[in-house]
Order: sequence, then C-alpha cells, then structure tokens
Amino acid sequence: MLDHLARELEQLEGKGRIRTLPPLSAREGCYVELNGKRCLNLSSNDYLGLAADSELQKKFYDQLSDETQGELFGTGSVSSRLLTGNSPQFEQLEEVLKESYRQEAALLFNSGYHANIGILPAITSKKDLILADKLNHASIIDGLKLSQAVFKRYNHCDFDHLRWQLDKYRNDFENLIIVSESVFSMDGDTVDLPALVELKNEFNGLLYLDEAHGTGLYGRRGLGVAEREDLLDQVDILIGTFGKALASIGAYVICPEVIKKYLLNKSRSLIFTTALPPVVGAWNLFAFREMMGMYSRRERLQMLSEKLRKSFIENGLETRGDTNIIPVIIGEDQRTEHIASQLQQDGFLLLPIRPPTVPEGTSRLRFSLTANMNWEQLQPVTDVVVSRM
Ligand code: PMP
Repeated sequence: MLDHLARELEQLEGKGRIRTLPPLSAREGCYVELNGKRCLNLSSNDYLGLAADSELQKKFYDQLSDETQGELFGTGSVSSRLLTGNSPQFEQLEEVLKESYRQEAALLFNSGYHANIGILPAITSKKDLILADKLNHASIIDGLKLSQAVFKRYNHCDFDHLRWQLDKYRNDFENLIIVSESVFSMDGDTVDLPALVELKNEFNGLLYLDEAHGTGLYGRRGLGVAEREDLLDQVDILIGTFGKALASIGAYVICPEVIKKYLLNKSRSLIFTTALPPVVGAWNLFAFREMMGMYSRRERLQMLSEKLRKSFIENGLETRGDTNIIPVIIGEDQRTEHIASQLQQDGFLLLPIRPPTVPEGTSRLRFSLTANMNWEQLQPVTDVVVSRM
C-alpha cells in the first residue's frame, strides 16, 4: 500500500499537481514571510483585514471582564454542544445572528466544511432532488455525496441549463433544493441571485446559499450578497462563515426554526463533534458586531479590486468575475506552478490553483485582495505578472 501511495504522489509531482504546506512565518499586516522572503500576501481570506488588526484584537481582550476570563479562556468546550459543550457565548451569538438577518433561527457549526457536510444529508431523503452549481465548493459536493437525495449539477451559473433540469426532473420528486454559492471562490464571480430566487419559487423549492466569500463584504451591514440584493427573506438556508472576513473559525446557518430543531436532532457534523472553545464564540460575536459597521472597509476593498481587475484586462491578462477575488487563467498546471513560484521570488505570495480545485485546463493564479492593502502595493502587480507570463 505504501509503495502504491508513493507512486501516486510521484505522478502528481510529475504533473505539477503535488500539494505541500507552504513554509510561512512572520505575518505582519498584509505581508508574510515565505522561505525568508517578505511577500505581499495575495492569497489570504482576511478580506477585511481583521486578522492583522491588532487594535481591534486589543479592544476585544480589553472588554472581557476579569470575572468572565476564566470561563472564556478555558482550553476548550470539551464536549459536543448537545452534551456539556454549550455556552452563553454561543447562544448569544445565535441571537445576534438571527436578529441581524431578521430570520427565525440561527445555528452555529464548527466550520463551513462542517455546515456543508452536515445540513443537506440531515434534511433530505431519497424523495428529494438537489440541483447544484457545478463550481460549488468541495464541502458542498461532499455534502451532496453524503445525502440520500438524488443530486444533479448544472453548468456554472447557467440558468437555462438549471431550468432544463427543473422541467425534466422536478415532478419526479417531493422536495427540491437548489444549492449555490453567492461568490464563487475560484472565479470571483457573483451569482445572479434574483434569477435564482425566481426559479426556486416557480418550481416550489428551497434555496441553499453558501455566503462563505460574501460574509462581511456585501450589503450595508456586510451580511452578504443576499442583503445587497434585498433578498434575505428569499434565501431559505443561508450559510455564513467566520473563517474568512471574520478572521476566526466557525460557521452559521440562518434558517426556519423547524430546520434548526431538525438539525439539532439529525445533523451528524453538529452532534458528533466537540464545540468550538467559548472564547472563539466570544470573538465571533465581537467580530460580527464590529464587521457590521465596517462599511468603509467594504467600499475600499471593492475600489481596489475594480482597479486591479481593470489593470489586468487593459494589459491583456485573462480574468473573470467582479469581486475581490481576481483569477488570472493560465491553463497548464506546470506553467501555473512555475509562474507562481517566480512571483514569490518577486515578493508576491500567490499559490497555484490547479485541478481538482478547478476544472482541467483552467489552472490559475488567484489574487485575493484585502481591505488593509493600498494601491501603491498593488500597482506594480500587473507589470510583474505580465513579465512572468
Ligand atoms: N464554503 C465555501 C464556498 C468555501 O470556499 C469554503 C472554504 N474555502 C468553505 C465553505 C469551508 O469553510 P471553512 O473554511 O469554514 O471550513
């Protein structure tokens, strides 16, 4: 078995597809050290710059009273929330989430991955149909595979294809769930939410929307694309995460009360895992409240992203999307890996994105901008990339 695994790894290496842990050290603001070289971190999900915001972190620690410190800073929750791992921090966070989204219920999960593998399998059965965008994240795909429902994938954001599937299959099933991301993490594009809502209503289904890359960034209070589009009440199951713009770990689902109760009874990735440490719950609550007021950071990030995307297009680079995630499509795996390593030598941290993360033949560099960057740092990027192509 070990020889077999080693041979497979050799093959991956030969194809330019081997994955290894980048030896990172010394993070400072939006810079990070890679192999001793200081690089602008263009691969981070710290979209609002919270992970690098030491003032904000100090404010968090300062507001904790001495009395609560012991409770908050225990080393862990030491059991599932359904046993003895529940804490007031989690309950309060769920209250604030539910009120902010003005929906019936909010429920925490330990990560976006836990949420996506734990919700669809819990609430669906063989009588149900799930239609999912082909570019949905791996965690959603794993959730589909764990579910008993019949699932089909429609071409990326192709609602003619989705409608064709709905016409063909909908009547054979009791319930329908349409699953999409709001911002697609490898293409940086945004779903046409009004169109999706119209289809789910026309075909009497539920909409499951993963806002992992929208949380913190869109809408007046940063609740996501659904808030921006004024469609919060039309999304039946909304996933938000704390691991990216909120600089933490964890996730939440906003949903009807009956789904929350059902998940508490049936969702295996919620029931059979230790709850996050209470201090994480306290930070998530603090960061979520602060995030809602960070309107200027959202605007700034959008402005920087538009400028860099425009500069790429003007210089003939192939890109797509409309968010702070800006892909540059290279195509071939080894070439992508080579260009990424050269850019690292130039002081820009980009990691090559290759299959199976993206479809065959579309390997790419993925520029992920954060609100604590400035244009002086980003201006040289286009010339450097063009010179390495
Ligand atoms: N959903 C999407 C769309 C994601 O991109 C990711 C992470 N990259 C996740 C879910 C998983 O979230 P987490 O990192 O909190 O497990």
